[in-house]
Amino acid sequence: MRTIPILGELTPGTTQRHLIKLPGAALANDEPRPVISVAGAKAGPVLFVNAGVHGGEYPAVEAVIRLGKTLDPKKISGTVILMPVLNLPAFRARTPFVCPVDNVNPNRVFPGDPHGSYSEQMTHALINEFVVYTDAYVDLHGGDIPEALVPFVICRSEAGLADSKARDVATRSKGIAMAFGLPYVLTVSKPVQPSKGLSSYAAAAERGVPAILAEAGGVGQMQEDAVELLVQGVINVMRHLGMLAGDHPHLNPLPNKGEEGSATVLTKFEWVYTKSRGVWCPKVAAGDFVNEGEQIGTVGDLFGDTLEKIVSPVNGVILFLTINPSVLEKGLLMGIGVGEVTSEK
Ligand SMILES: [Zn+2]
Repeated sequence: MRTIPILGELTPGTTQRHLIKLPGAALANDEPRPVISVAGAKAGPVLFVNAGVHGGEYPAVEAVIRLGKTLDPKKISGTVILMPVLNLPAFRARTPFVCPVDNVNPNRVFPGDPHGSYSEQMTHALINEFVVYTDAYVDLHGGDIPEALVPFVICRSEAGLADSKARDVATRSKGIAMAFGLPYVLTVSKPVQPSKGLSSYAAAAERGVPAILAEAGGVGQMQEDAVELLVQGVINVMRHLGMLAGDHPHLNPLPNKGEEGSATVLTKFEWVYTKSRGVWCPKVAAGDFVNEGEQIGTVGDLFGDTLEKIVSPVNGVILFLTINPSVLEKGLLMGIGVGEVTSEK
């Protein structure tokens, strides 16, 4: 079977627990990161699943833990490698969006840099010690501590890729994204925010590994329905990749969820910001459909006067929404997914 050198030898038909020290001078004093390998009795693809690139996205973390406890290696073809939390400093400190060591959002600096800051060394280790040895990569997220969201999957768009190998990786990524079974699949062709690097899934695709980023849950809580969606999504991906046959005995398939190909495909991600700092009062919820020009909230000052009326720039569906009232200048308020067809209100 294929190997992941940093994990040492894996015994087919067993689940093993590892405590891993990632390479990188900035990471030298880190506590070891838990990793679980589920080595199937039969040969097959290698799938890598992690959570905790952002430290406050708890249903994603729990989903990875639960997969480690419930996947039966005797029923699996291939190997599943599970890392519950990459960004352990943020998890320990309950820091949203960034790593508190360098104040960098790790999901903006993939594929990292072995000589860069803490987050750059951490993402470099993730790609080079794990992702490059695998056949598919699933990065689990959710809304961070101040964010609500509707479940969705992101992957790279095939559009605009001239290279046939890159296009093939994007096509296979979209297949995995559709198989995951969440209501929306967003395909993107460029980063949604200007940033130094890429997101996890784009960096993996650059290395030839089909990859997706799946999001469920948020607001700093452990929603059981979000955990189940993410667990079931990974099971769906394993079936799609031929790693599991039929129903997995430990997990109940969710009715009306996880039907391959039933997601609404969105092709553009429009992020909305406030100009003013103040008190954010949204008039919409995650999952709502909004129309271009519609007022979707206000930002007021601490006397209660309105500073700014927030208006939707597009027709689309609100995929994530900042629900904390306190916002800073140029603060992120929401992300709206735009498709070819937008549903009625
Ligand atoms: Zn995240």
